[in-house]
Amino acid sequence: MRVDVLTIFPAYLDALELSLVGKARSAGLLDVRVHDLRDWAHDRHRTVDDTPAGGGAGMVMRPDVWGAALSDVLTEGATLVVPTPSGPTFTQRTAEDWATREHLVFACGRYEGIDARVAEHHRARGVRVEEASIGDYVLNGGEVATLVMVEAVARLVPGVLGNAESVVEESHSAEGLLEYPVYTRPVEWEGLAIPDVLMSGHHGKVARWRRDQALARTAERRPDMIAALDPTRLDKRDRAT
Ligand code: SAM
Repeated sequence: MRVDVLTIFPAYLDALELSLVGKARSAGLLDVRVHDLRDWAHDRHRTVDDTPAGGGAGMVMRPDVWGAALSDVLTEGATLVVPTPSGPTFTQRTAEDWATREHLVFACGRYEGIDARVAEHHRARGVRVEEASIGDYVLNGGEVATLVMVEAVARLVPGVLGNAESVVEESHSAEGLLEYPVYTRPVEWEGLAIPDVLMSGHHGKVARWRRDQALARTAERRPDMIAALDPTRLDKRDRAT
């Protein structure tokens, strides 16, 4: 998968050199390219913004600078992602969908955001444009939102995680539940013991305990997720829990 990020703060994206994403890049599973938007500005001050049409506070990012950058970076079939607090919420389903795409281009806004014609123009040209919010709060720029989205997508790209099984039972997986609590050695710590069943070696009992815990935890913390479960996928014991 190829990922391009356009930003006026390329250093924010240095974190993509670390950990699993960094390893996936070294292994050739991910081709991540970070660009300085100012390279496409056309004045001596490398200006990328101007005052808002209609007046008001702050500055808006210029469409001509974005247009020039995007026409150099977008490839045929690429998806243009525009992080914005006014977009639909990015979820695990979004990550699963984007993990199947070949080329994602992230346009990191700053100030009051990017001139609305940038998304409109590219949509009209047939580019798949995804505006996405990472939550109901406002950040200073799209860089942190891009880090969140790239990490969530990258770990679903085949080969990026050492153990593909680990995404199956995770919180927010297709199962629709939060994950059960996890433990490791020492068996006893600060007077707290690992639940006996996890030390029993009985795979069936461990699986049932984990499912019960996942259901109870989801019911307590996220009743909205319980309400959204497909009843045909619940067994008798699930319903009792
Ligand atoms: N004036 C905009 C509004 O009220 O919708 C907020 C602009 S914000 C200060 C600057 C940039 O940060 C946005 O263009 C976007 O790229 C990014 N951003 C801020 N909050 C975000 C969020 N919750 N999700 C995704 N991107 C966000």
